[in-house]
Amino acid sequence: MGQTLHTHAAPGILGIEPYTPGMPIDELQRRLGVKSAIKLASNENPLGMSPKVRAALAEAVASQNLALYPDGSGHRLKQKLARMFDIAPERITLGNGSNDILEFLARVYAGPGRAVMFSEYAFAVYPLAAQAQSAESVVVPARPAEDPMPYGHDMAAFARVLRGRPDVALVFVANPNNPTGTWLEPQAIEDFLRQVPPDVIVALDEAYFEYQDPALRPDTRRWLDQFPNLLVARTFSKVYGLAGLRVGYAFSHPDVADLLNRVRQPFNNNSLALLAAEVALDDQAHVAQSVELNARERARLTRELRALGLGVLPSQANFVTVDFHRDAQPIHQGLLERGVIVRPMGSYGLPNFLRVTVGTVAENDRFLGALKEVLRG
Ligand SMILES: *Cc1c(COP(=O)(O)O)cnc(C)c1O
Repeated sequence: MGQTLHTHAAPGILGIEPYTPGMPIDELQRRLGVKSAIKLASNENPLGMSPKVRAALAEAVASQNLALYPDGSGHRLKQKLARMFDIAPERITLGNGSNDILEFLARVYAGPGRAVMFSEYAFAVYPLAAQAQSAESVVVPARPAEDPMPYGHDMAAFARVLRGRPDVALVFVANPNNPTGTWLEPQAIEDFLRQVPPDVIVALDEAYFEYQDPALRPDTRRWLDQFPNLLVARTFSKVYGLAGLRVGYAFSHPDVADLLNRVRQPFNNNSLALLAAEVALDDQAHVAQSVELNARERARLTRELRALGLGVLPSQANFVTVDFHRDAQPIHQGLLERGVIVRPMGSYGLPNFLRVTVGTVAENDRFLGALKEVLRG
């Protein structure tokens, strides 16, 4: 039966290995009967959304007519983003999460004979988006384990590989990268952009942009004028704490935005999500508080994990990726049994690693306590 039902399925779809998300707290409670679990597995903001957003949502649920379709153009949110980043509104595309935008890109630019390039150990959605379009994935070797930016993107290698692959139509660059947390010098990205043919789209995925040290953030505003083939994708899922509502956005040349809009569902952002994103942009104090907590706790986690003899990759994001120098699966399991959900990295080809989202002080203490128990055996 399975074979018959596969007969006319798109060939690319049959090759997809589904994305494995971080385990929801409910599922751990169901599976292991663990009470009061914490989740440090999906890089969500441990402070949650801004209290102002929460209040605006409650107000909207009480007063708005949600029987009406949302504003399919996302006019108000685009106006706000345009003002905040000094970008023309026609250069903005809104997505149901920035994943939505990554998929638009693949649908528009990738396909049989139109390959997609990205780094080894990059975000898992890139190969999925390519595969769904039956496009070949060209995986660029990452930096070696001994590099100062271990497992990070190697932009010189991107340029070299691209020269030999004229079929590449779309390049994904994650900065900072997930699942490694590593980042790129702005100059390395710019040098690469100068070497990319003008008809190859480069998608710079900045999901962790706000967590980056401002001194390390590239001037993408300038690049967008200089490189019409550049797209910059960002999200409200991470520092803005709106992962459950699904809003992402991209800046690009208006012609690229126009193409992305042709494959976008007309109402891909719901009314409450649009409102939440608008209000969230107005509460930069919440963003600053979240970034400050993250920087402090990321440094503490790094210190304490290294003191346990573990490797910690350099991170400019809201997570740390930990090298246990042995199979990390039993450690993952031990943490689950103690109600701490982190992310195993086996599916990324890093079986000795776990990725741990930086939580609140109490959550990080609980993780460290559980980990010490597990390591004692
Ligand atoms: C989390 C993440 C995204 C965005 O996810 P959405 O929730 O769909 O906005 C995109 N890229 C990377 C590298 C991420 O880690």
